[in-house]
Amino acid sequence: MNTGDTEVIIIGAGLGGLTSAILLGQMGIKVTVIERSPFPGGLLRSYARQGVDCAVGLHYFGPAGEGELLRQMFDILGVTDKLKLRRIGTQGVLERYIFDDVTFDLPSNLPAFKEALLGLCPTENDAIDAIIAALQTMSQGLRLDEGGRLQSSPFSFAGLDQSMEEFLAAAGCSKKLHDILTVHGFWTGLPMDKCPAYLLLYTLGALLLSAWELGCTGRQMADAYSERALATGADLILGDPVEHILVHDGRACGVRLRSGRSLTCKKIVAGIHPKLVLPMLPEGALSAAYKDGLLKLAETGSAVCVHLLVDEKQQEARGYNIFRIHKIDGVHTDGTFLQVRQSGRSGYNLVTIIRGSEYSDWKQWYDTFTGKRDGEYNQAKMKAAQSMIEIAGKVLGPLGDYTILDISTPLTLRDWAASPEGSIYGLMRSVTNDLQFAVLTRMPVRSLYLVGQNAIAPGLLGVTLSILRGVGEVAGRGRFQKFLAEKLAEKSSLSSQADTD
Ligand SMILES: Cc1cc2nc3c(=O)[nH]c(=O)nc-3n(C[C@H](O)[C@H](O)[C@H](O)COP(=O)(O)OP(=O)(O)OC[C@H]3O[C@@H](n4cnc5c(N)ncnc54)[C@H](O)[C@@H]3O)c2cc1C
Repeated sequence: MNTGDTEVIIIGAGLGGLTSAILLGQMGIKVTVIERSPFPGGLLRSYARQGVDCAVGLHYFGPAGEGELLRQMFDILGVTDKLKLRRIGTQGVLERYIFDDVTFDLPSNLPAFKEALLGLCPTENDAIDAIIAALQTMSQGLRLDEGGRLQSSPFSFAGLDQSMEEFLAAAGCSKKLHDILTVHGFWTGLPMDKCPAYLLLYTLGALLLSAWELGCTGRQMADAYSERALATGADLILGDPVEHILVHDGRACGVRLRSGRSLTCKKIVAGIHPKLVLPMLPEGALSAAYKDGLLKLAETGSAVCVHLLVDEKQQEARGYNIFRIHKIDGVHTDGTFLQVRQSGRSGYNLVTIIRGSEYSDWKQWYDTFTGKRDGEYNQAKMKAAQSMIEIAGKVLGPLGDYTILDISTPLTLRDWAASPEGSIYGLMRSVTNDLQFAVLTRMPVRSLYLVGQNAIAPGLLGVTLSILRGVGEVAGRGRFQKFLAEKLAEKSSLSSQADTD
């Protein structure tokens, strides 16, 4: 057994694992990151088809303006320059919601959002005031104060167990307002009486503070993070999955990899789905009740993603995102997400189409692996893509001659990102979940922590929230906050120096 000097082993080199590695490394803690795939980045990592970069799990995010939470974190991590961040929605529209009966353009800031809502629902002053107040409280808290503390918790306005339906009913919203405020909810796959209000409020509040996309590729972002992790002293083991977590006297103390290699440590951070952690633990490490409870939690929905190359004269790049929302029974939603951006190839733009897809629709191929599937699978994939391309044509106008660069299915996400059931956002957050699973930065084994999209909430922002809590637990909250405060002070003194120069 290797008894090296690693203090913390991090399982998984996704956004959660890599961010934790950089922060712990900067605090002088010796870290080893272990990743099953030959490449770091997880869902963050994009791939190229015909020379065009295709994003997997990072299309846009917020808030990353100067002094806002994500920018503060990028600065602390030392990656801001590499990301070449680009603000979106600067032409006035951030997202276009196309319902069967109405189209709504989401503006890029809160005052304009209020105005747009009043334009659509002029008699609903009180409800709109309540919504804006909630979004304001939520979004204003999304920054670290001088002491390195998050200004307010995303749960401070709407509790962990308040549903979006309850929140909207209390505000007195009409169906029109309800539909607009719940657009992002279709990704969760949950009806609004189960979807926690904080999830949708903080997603919308964050984007209305400032919305951004990468000016580099997802692959470059993943590489920038892993280079920073290495620079802060981390070791990175790629292409060798963790199969077992070693537990001694009730304390996680090491891992065994598929290659047979073993490593010991003082603490383990799992930057992976908690259901993947369960079979790694020795029998009896967790109670049967805890395991059952965790296994019973549902996964968020999955999706088919299509990337098309189109003539830029046929489809111009749009500086906003489009959601085509079709309400099926007033409760469930058939949603399609569309983006048209420059492709990097002269004369062509890239159309990205993402639409929800049931994992069970791909049951026939559960036992197969990406790259080794039959013609029937390819036909099913093509059929799904064609119906999405049809929707894109209706929403965007004629696509002209296009090239399909790539189609991915729930099985692709399952196989490439180790995402159970190909789920986009990992564990489903529902107000009906047992509260012990609402915040999952600890598992009930000593020295075992969890970060990433399954710990608190999904997305770049959700992963960041998990880091602020999870890394604080690993390093000690006081020490972590002091470190964050020092980094923020460093940045602010550099900025004021640059102003005076
Ligand atoms: C289609 C899609 C679109 C999205 N769009 C956006 C968006 O626009 N904006 C946004 O903010 N978020 C978006 N997201 C969500 C965002 O990508 C994720 O929340 C985030 O990347 C999750 O990071 P993570 O580190 O928690 O997990 P992951 O990225 O899944 O990383 C986990 C890592 O652990 C590794 N691993 C698994 N098992 C093992 C093992 N046994 N041993 C070692 N390593 C292991 C995996 O290979 C992986 O690299 C999207 C996601 C999807 C799927």
